[in-house]
Amino acid sequence: MQQELQIYIDGQFYPEPEAKVSVFDHGLLYGDGIFEGIRFYNGRVFKLTEHLERLWDSARAIMLTIPMTIAEMEAATLETIRKNGLKDGYIRLLVTRGKGNLGLSPDRCPKASVIIIAATIQLYPPEAYERGMTVVTCATRRMAPAALSPAVKSLNYLNNIMAKIEANIAKADEGLMLNEEGYVAECTGDNIFVVKRGEIYTPPIYAGSLRGITWQAVLDIATELGFKVNVQQMTRYDLYTADELFLTGTAAEVIAAVKLDNRVIGDGKPGSITNKIIARFREVAQSTGTPIYA
Ligand code: PMP
Repeated sequence: MQQELQIYIDGQFYPEPEAKVSVFDHGLLYGDGIFEGIRFYNGRVFKLTEHLERLWDSARAIMLTIPMTIAEMEAATLETIRKNGLKDGYIRLLVTRGKGNLGLSPDRCPKASVIIIAATIQLYPPEAYERGMTVVTCATRRMAPAALSPAVKSLNYLNNIMAKIEANIAKADEGLMLNEEGYVAECTGDNIFVVKRGEIYTPPIYAGSLRGITWQAVLDIATELGFKVNVQQMTRYDLYTADELFLTGTAAEVIAAVKLDNRVIGDGKPGSITNKIIARFREVAQSTGTPIYA
């Protein structure tokens, strides 16, 4: 039997059935809060500093005071993984606005709440990694940066969820989201890349995506492997005419997409450049990061 998870909430550990938040928490009432999803491999947390820095940027953007320092958050994260005796897995860090009243104003929430869950995750079925994913373009547009910046990794994921529902109805593995102008932004939980004539392309963050930590890691790997990398605006034309497509995200890692809107991309199989990047990503992920049990 699997051991019961120990969840960190505001400095204490609770067995999963007892790990609860108030119904007056504004994270629940309004999606008012931020989060990170982080993977650890082989006893090391991958890109922990980058995730914590992004969490702090999200907090700053929504004027949320995280009630601990980055060093304390790092220590609490490592402690949560150790408490659960895990070597490989996935961490979810949440900072909610905390308990308030039924009004939406955050000035009635005196203290933010910190929750850390260390577990495992499987985003897509294992066979999707072999055959490549099917993707459909969603009618739901990625929200405009002037409304709520997609760069803020907030607890309000309804924009992405609406798109994911469309993808589910279409029986596709993922949904492609365009921005208000019709340029490619990202998928519902992943960044997107194109391979064309041996070069790699991805939309800029300002097209309306999260600044993916895996996105950056893959840009670094592609450059290290000697590929020319182009960060530029793209339309669906660029995706339909791609030789290869792949998606990146902490939970997804790196995964090929072989169909978009029922059109076959390239030769319909995960491409050779995608496979090279996946192989190198796995090596880097397995051999770098913050040690958990040092
Ligand atoms: N875009 C969105 C909307 C996401 O939620 C995520 C994270 N799941 C990503 C992109 C990928 O970001 P990262 O590589 O930092 O996980």
